[in-house]
Amino acid sequence: MTRYTRNAMGMAGLLAVAMLAMAVAPALAQSPAEVDAALKAAYAKYKDLKEGANADYIPALAKVDPNIYGIALVTVDGKVYTAGDVSSEVSIQSISKVFTMAKVIEEQGTQAITDNMGVDATGQVFNSIVAVEQYRGAEMNAMVNPGAITATSMVKGASRDEIWKKILGFYSEFAGRQLTVNQEVYKSEAETNQRNQAISMLMYAYGHIKENPLQACDIYTEQCSVSVNAKDLATMAATLANGGKNPVTGKQVMGTGNVPEVLAVMATAGLYDDSGKWLYLTGLPAKSGVGGGILAVSPGKFGIAVVAPPLDKAGNSVKAQKAIADVSNALGGNPYAVKPR
Ligand code: GLN
Repeated sequence: MTRYTRNAMGMAGLLAVAMLAMAVAPALAQSPAEVDAALKAAYAKYKDLKEGANADYIPALAKVDPNIYGIALVTVDGKVYTAGDVSSEVSIQSISKVFTMAKVIEEQGTQAITDNMGVDATGQVFNSIVAVEQYRGAEMNAMVNPGAITATSMVKGASRDEIWKKILGFYSEFAGRQLTVNQEVYKSEAETNQRNQAISMLMYAYGHIKENPLQACDIYTEQCSVSVNAKDLATMAATLANGGKNPVTGKQVMGTGNVPEVLAVMATAGLYDDSGKWLYLTGLPAKSGVGGGILAVSPGKFGIAVVAPPLDKAGNSVKAQKAIADVSNALGGNPYAVKPR
């Protein structure tokens, strides 16, 4: 009996060792309390910062509460950390461009993007017509309006409704919940988006948008009006950080092999003409929107997002840039920063 017990314990011990060896290393070197403290510190540091102003070229955005401020971080092992207001929603705006580009790559491959709008930074503002004219609508990217509206036009479907359902469904899988449209924002932008309509017609004239340029502009406007909070955005970012698998729901949302190309364009153009400054500071592929959100991806580690509407001159949330940089740098999020062996 004694002998049997000892053997059994020996087996259990061996099993425990084997299981430990098989266990995946945690996403972060820091303890949960340390991660939490990093978020809380960044939240407190910038809470009372009054720099920047809400976007007002879309009238509904000017009315959003400028004091909304929330930080969320989701690790690739599905742990969620938050500070501040992570339930107030803003419109996703340009952050949507990432996920529509991803959808096009999923359906048509990475070459479809390089062949059509290209993958180079324009060095111009996001709705620049000069950027279109420079290379007749090529040599740009899907993170600025001409490339983004073209990407939307490339999503296939038998009807507008079918295309829209695909886009919204895809975003929702990244967020891990069913997202909806802020109708007030959609209506407000649809009434005032003549410049984007002009950009759509130009991209049509240059052969990048094949048909229905104004439908593409309208669907693009609707995708920009999808309502999200900081936690949604962080989960979307974490899905990209985790090779296209949503770490909270466990669903493989996009092909792992297609993620690097999406992150590459975010790195070069995600914060428009300030993308270089951002990458220099953080090393993180990221994307901002004029609704006040920014999400950033630390590949293999975490997704992080901040919602705070006041923007700087380039159209990027002031608080979001500062808070994400602080948290990521505290957690070793910069993928270029490695320790020598
Ligand atoms: N819907 C906005 C536009 O097209 C998105 C711009 C942005 O977030 N930078 O102007």
